[in-house]
Amino acid sequence: MAELFYDDDADLSVIQSKKVAIIGYGSQGHAHALNLRDSGVDVVVGLREGSSSRAKAEEQGLKVATVADAVKAADVVMILTPDQAQRKVYAEEIEPNLKDDAAIFFAHGFNIRFGYIKPSAGHDIAMVAPKGPGHTVRREYEAGRGVPVIVAVEQDASGHAWDVALSYAKAIGGLRAAGIRTTFTEETETDLFGEQAVLCGGVSALIQNGFEVLTEAGYQPEIAYFEVLHEMKLIVDLIWEGGISKQRWSVSDTAEYGDYVSGPRVITPEVKENMKKVLADVQSGAFAERFIKDQDAGAPEFKELRAKGEGHPIETTGRELRKLFAWTDSRDADYVEGQV
Ligand code: NAD
Ligand code: MG
Ligand code: MG
Ligand code: MG
Ligand code: MG
Repeated sequence: MAELFYDDDADLSVIQSKKVAIIGYGSQGHAHALNLRDSGVDVVVGLREGSSSRAKAEEQGLKVATVADAVKAADVVMILTPDQAQRKVYAEEIEPNLKDDAAIFFAHGFNIRFGYIKPSAGHDIAMVAPKGPGHTVRREYEAGRGVPVIVAVEQDASGHAWDVALSYAKAIGGLRAAGIRTTFTEETETDLFGEQAVLCGGVSALIQNGFEVLTEAGYQPEIAYFEVLHEMKLIVDLIWEGGISKQRWSVSDTAEYGDYVSGPRVITPEVKENMKKVLADVQSGAFAERFIKDQDAGAPEFKELRAKGEGHPIETTGRELRKLFAWTDSRDADYVEGQV
């Protein structure tokens, strides 16, 4: 059983006695900064000159500074810029301004695991990673609850890195739910594998292939859309609530029997072998290298693949069909349909 931490396992005064710099004010950044502030922590948000987030952070009553100034004063620096931007921000604006004994925090282990950021031996390196989007982290905190976090210490220079990490986790509300102990290596490798093989890559490819098989066989795209995409949410909600067993309990016996006999014909042992190859590329750093090389070159491959995905016929069908639903009003305001 994994090691779990709750509010009683952490001392809030540890992080309350430190100055914390939150670098970046996106999904995670805004949630960490506001939750820490509301937990009585001295927090400053470090942003690039001319950042469009400055006004937003100031409006919410937060102190804002340049990355350099925020880092200079900080005992704890939480890096919450996009993963592909962290190496450059760290080298140019964070590292030259770090206090000798400042702790460096992350919400994902990518840059430490693959060696893009290599802090010197005097710094604590820790991770507090909420298992949910930043907007949920903030909303749950305000509701008096929290989103579970995973916590890791990669380098314990001070001998107190765990105390600080758990105190930080408590201050953002994570330990109201639970903290789970992990390592940078485990978090990074399982996160990348999960999103590539199952959650994002696997599910997207499964839906697109199902849609292609039905429409190529002459069925109407609107009907195919409902069967392979729209209903995915209903099934996933059941799995999320009570595991695969609850999903099988809830669907018809016909659907359950079809699950047993046809699931393994689609996801064959060969697919599992392919998943192992994906994991091997994550573990060797080959995926990270390909991603970062492309990003450094202006992301030509990334942009091409994004445009190709957006051009899949299921997206056109879906855009039209979703207009028929009242709940289109509740879609994420930051997300624009059809924007590549
Ligand atoms: P994001 O894209 O929502 O926000 C990034 C922020 O950084 C923005 O405010 C942006 O303006 C700023 N920024 C971008 N480039 C910058 C630069 N060069 N210098 C300074 N600021 C810059 O990012 P996010 O999704 O919150 O991810 C941040 C970290 O949290 C990542 O390590 C990610 O893996 C991790 N994480 C994200 C989630 C999530 O749900 N989004 C969940 C867990 C962990
Ligand atoms: Mg993940
Ligand atoms: Mg991820
Ligand atoms: Mg059906
Ligand atoms: Mg049933």
